[in-house]
Amino acid sequence: MNLRALGEFGLIEAIRRRAGASHPQWRVAIGDDAAVLTPKRGEELVLTADTVVENVHFRWRTTTPALLGRKALAVNLSDVGAMGARPLGFLLTLGLPRDMSGKKLEAFLDGLFVRARIARCPLVGGDVTRAGEFSAAITAIGAVTRGRALLRSAARPGDRVMVTGRLGAAAAGLRAIERRKRLTRAERPLARRQRAPFPPFWAGPELVRLRLSRCAIDVSDGLAQDLGHVLDESRVGARIALEAVPVAAGATLDDALGGGEDYELLFTVSPRAPSAEVIGKRLACRVTEIGVITRQRRLVLTRAGRAVDAITRGYEHFKASSARSDK
Ligand code: ADP
Ligand code: MG
Repeated sequence: MNLRALGEFGLIEAIRRRAGASHPQWRVAIGDDAAVLTPKRGEELVLTADTVVENVHFRWRTTTPALLGRKALAVNLSDVGAMGARPLGFLLTLGLPRDMSGKKLEAFLDGLFVRARIARCPLVGGDVTRAGEFSAAITAIGAVTRGRALLRSAARPGDRVMVTGRLGAAAAGLRAIERRKRLTRAERPLARRQRAPFPPFWAGPELVRLRLSRCAIDVSDGLAQDLGHVLDESRVGARIALEAVPVAAGATLDDALGGGEDYELLFTVSPRAPSAEVIGKRLACRVTEIGVITRQRRLVLTRAGRAVDAITRGYEHFKASSARSDK
């Protein structure tokens, strides 16, 4: 891609070619004044936006264009999935510096479309503008069965708290990246989790389909803070067993509780729901039960059944102990 030679319309045409076909639900995608979507009966649409800006959310010297492309879409897929929705498509608004090379943009788009294909989430429109620094603003659209969206406000006392995957890898990875030394063999997978997270975007829709949950949130700011949002919105508390929290290899419990950017899914299920192991099999990912929702509005951390810490306000408490990349 030679950006100078292409010009704006040439660039849009090149992006359109790379994007490939969209879903049949899109009556019009890239190429008209706006895209046209035909919703399915009995479904509601969910919309979300997330932006990455050079030198605010990332630096070129600590990631690659292809990994950044993956991450830019992944964080949006994570939000759509955390609502229990399957992705329908996304809009992409690019801010391009004058000196940006076509090769770099191509690599970014390649990374983006890798995630888009896996998630069956087509690019259906967007905008291109000159900018001082590179930015990619994505708006993603998803669909969920009417009335079944997974809400932060839907946790009830007695519900069990579960989480997918293992936590803390992204925070440990960021620490390694920021040391600015050559990554060791053990650090490499952690750094990759930070640079190109792979959220279980299918888990939320599957929970909805199986009617297993009403409440979920993606873990983007650390377990304590994101669970805190659920507790605030649902006006409840929780008891979390620290020894049950699934900590990623190479990460610490503090990374899991306070580190960000894991993009795993935290959700609640009723007391009568199947075991975490059974739910994990259905979702095709690791699921761990870590605690229970309580009437009393505080987050109590336990070890061997005994309270070791209680947070009554300010779930950001844990954030100070770990490095963060954004803002
Ligand atoms: P307008 O001047 O009406 O805003 P544009 O020339 O910006 O139209 O866009 C023309 C078409 O190309 C639209 O369908 C728009 O959604 C699409 N488009 C523009 N930029 C992008 C992009 N970065 N990615 C995908 N589609 C894009
Ligand atoms: Mg435009």
